[in-house]
Amino acid sequence: MSFYSTRGGACVTASQAILWGLARDGGLYVPSMFPLLSQDRIFGFCDLSYQTIARRVLQEFLEDYSKAEIAQAVEAAYSPGNFDDPAIVPLRQLDDRLHVMELFHGPTLAFKDVALKLLPYLVKMAARKNEETREISIMVATSGDTGKAALEGFRDVEGTSCTVFYPHEGVSDMQLRQMVTTEGSNTHVIGVKGNFDDAQTGVKRLFSSPEFHDKMNKMGKLPSSANSINFGRLAPQVVYYFSCYAQLVCHGKLRMGQPLNFVVPTGNFGDILAGYYAKRMGLPIGKLICASNRNNVLSDFFTHGVYYTHRTFFKTMSPSMDILISSNLERLLYESADRDSSVVSAWMESLRKSGSFSIGAQRLSKLQQSFAAGFADDTMTAEEIRRVYGHSGYLMDPHTAVASHVQKEYHLQTGDYSQTVILATASPYKFARDVLSALRGGEAVEGLDAFACVQKLEDITGVPIPKQIAALRSMPVRHQTICEVDGMQEAILNELQ
Ligand SMILES: *Cc1c(COP(=O)(O)O)cnc(C)c1O
Repeated sequence: MSFYSTRGGACVTASQAILWGLARDGGLYVPSMFPLLSQDRIFGFCDLSYQTIARRVLQEFLEDYSKAEIAQAVEAAYSPGNFDDPAIVPLRQLDDRLHVMELFHGPTLAFKDVALKLLPYLVKMAARKNEETREISIMVATSGDTGKAALEGFRDVEGTSCTVFYPHEGVSDMQLRQMVTTEGSNTHVIGVKGNFDDAQTGVKRLFSSPEFHDKMNKMGKLPSSANSINFGRLAPQVVYYFSCYAQLVCHGKLRMGQPLNFVVPTGNFGDILAGYYAKRMGLPIGKLICASNRNNVLSDFFTHGVYYTHRTFFKTMSPSMDILISSNLERLLYESADRDSSVVSAWMESLRKSGSFSIGAQRLSKLQQSFAAGFADDTMTAEEIRRVYGHSGYLMDPHTAVASHVQKEYHLQTGDYSQTVILATASPYKFARDVLSALRGGEAVEGLDAFACVQKLEDITGVPIPKQIAALRSMPVRHQTICEVDGMQEAILNELQ
């Protein structure tokens, strides 16, 4: 299998797509085809471990990696030392048709770990395959969770470094603390005086700057990306859709072949796109339900077929979804345009020039066969955290609660009674202040620092505090660099010197 650019230029191998991250024409790498898995094969996943399913699915895409390499990477990434649940992505049942898939059992307590524990191995192997001797300098823009997960993934991995740009004052207390206390000799953390879109646009600009590449090259470094624009992030996420389906069939909750809906709290469109890829590979998925917070650019897109970014940017209690420019949507647009890269390029050009593009009624109605969408603002999100906890005793983080709210609305509007899985993308303890305040009102958190909120949340709910959160309290701050939006190049060159 080869990989093309959504803008038309490239034809590269899997390892090259992973090593380079973004195509030189500014497009994203997409697989040349979707390998099809038969229902028999998917049914066979019922008896297999997460690791084995991961190997089977990844092999389909990563053609220039040997089976032994993939096995080695998977075993190292999904070891008991990294994930505290043997299922890796355990399911919880809320009622007869509603399930939660918990994706936050890795080292940084957000779903990004599932991909970012694996990616460094794939990148290192890719460097070797392509005889790359320069240091692989990973650059990441984060809305909060990717940053820490990437830092933990690449920390002290020989031949690499990892630099994270986060929006200064745009992430939660715990997210910030997790990042700035990161250890390791090859990790760098830089606050950008802007929002996530500024940071992401800045990183993309560095990637497409010949001047920057030249300077890095002189320092013996090759810039690469660990954002979900990297195909190596996407492929590991496809795996858990298969694993989830197989778990439900295995436990008698689903007949093989019966459609299953997934509700996905969405920001950069990576997680839900992986679900779409799984569907194209033959997994019986009914609807992929795209859940946005108040920055509802995506739910508007799936409703009207118009992507429109000239709107107010809101800071919400689900900061990892505070995004107006969803990079991975370009990969879906490529499919929607029947893989005509000139159509995609025209849409992207229109987005750049006028802040919007429209895909037209016919393409929209085709997308709506696979996707539904909705959104929740902070009031609805807090209400949902309280409702679900009261109803089933299940404690959701704000991102997961956005999805849960959208699920509830979708169900009411459509009467769709399909078995449904909500993707739980973070531990509630990463957002303890907002979760606590959702349960007990704003007064309950007044005067409490981040750790006091954590403790009180445990006292009230009895849900144990994850050890990673407890450990943060005593860890010293090691990263303090802050830069302006237009000072990102200088800042990273300084750090890497
Ligand atoms: C990153 C993130 C999301 C959004 O995922 P995308 O792949 O960017 O759509 C949702 N929830 C949490 C907790 C996240 O960290």
